[in-house]
Amino acid sequence: MARHASPLQSLLVDDRFDGDVYPNEPMSRHTTYRIGGPARFFVRANSVGALTGLIDVCAETNVPWVVVGRGSNVLVSDEGFGGVAVALGRDFRSMRFEDGRFFVGAGATLSSVVQDAFKRNLGGFEFAVGTPGTVGGALRMNAGARDEWIGERVATVTTYRPGAGLQRRRGDELSWGYRTSSFAPDEIIIECELVADVADPFKVRDKMEANLARRKETQPLSQPTCGSVFKNPEGASVGRMVEELGLKGYAQGKARISAVHGNFIVNEGGATAADVRSLMDEIAARVREAYGVSLLPEVRLVGFEEPFHG
Ligand SMILES: Cc1cc2nc3c(=O)[nH]c(=O)nc-3n(C[C@H](O)[C@H](O)[C@H](O)COP(=O)(O)OP(=O)(O)OC[C@H]3O[C@@H](n4cnc5c(N)ncnc54)[C@H](O)[C@@H]3O)c2cc1C
Repeated sequence: MARHASPLQSLLVDDRFDGDVYPNEPMSRHTTYRIGGPARFFVRANSVGALTGLIDVCAETNVPWVVVGRGSNVLVSDEGFGGVAVALGRDFRSMRFEDGRFFVGAGATLSSVVQDAFKRNLGGFEFAVGTPGTVGGALRMNAGARDEWIGERVATVTTYRPGAGLQRRRGDELSWGYRTSSFAPDEIIIECELVADVADPFKVRDKMEANLARRKETQPLSQPTCGSVFKNPEGASVGRMVEELGLKGYAQGKARISAVHGNFIVNEGGATAADVRSLMDEIAARVREAYGVSLLPEVRLVGFEEPFHG
């Protein structure tokens, strides 16, 4: 007897669906770690209609879904993700500048905003130079440096949430914390307005160059990573604690705690998510034992059954 297609399958094979569909797509192709098993479907939605239609079908039929930007802050399990990994395509990549604000789609890269601001002699985004990722991922994570973050730049943001629909809010109606924001877990960032400052172009350039130089000196930029693995506990540095514990350079399979920065784990080629996870467990256990501190991952774990215990 022929099996009936599910509502999700029917949507994805419909010629009118404005998106690109990749069944059983290895997520290692979509993460900066180059790690991750297959997503049941990887779908690039190219319009708001395609995105909302897709998310509604998933929500109504209890199919798990997750949005991915550049995958620069996610670790996907080796088993992959048994649902739909959604990326934002064509219509989400727009950017225009008007009246001191960037109007940006959530699928545009954060670096395109940084570069455009620089060309226009505008300041406010120098902290983000060298941060990979999309604007949507940056807002969700409240990407930033020690004392500056993207949330401070958000004038308005438009999101979609199944059941609640499209919503536009002012940036100050949301909370922005250290690598965290108050968007609901099932809320998708669609676009935003980011405020730029009139600034001295020489100061902007100096600040960007200094930030880039510091990154090159302190981060293993030539290897696949997810940036910082753990959030720094209040008043402490994970990198420093890892160094004091003598864990720098420690390896598990093909994953290694960077010799350059103790809060980075690098994929030396062919590392598995289990290798990375095992290093994360080791670091957390040793830090807890030595300093009595529980570490919280900054990296988002996708497709793992076991939640992380710091
Ligand atoms: C070399 C390197 C350096 C880094 N340096 C920094 C740094 O200096 N500061 C910093 O803060 N981070 C840094 N990061 C981490 C990372 O780049 C940022 O967190 C980035 O903002 C993530 O964006 P992304 O598009 O890759 O998101 P992803 O990694 O794809 O996703 C991150 C989270 O955001 C969610 N998400 C993505 N898009 C959306 C959307 N449109 N709507 C709702 N949720 C969404 C995902 O579901 C996931 O939970 C670094 C990473 C690397 C590899």
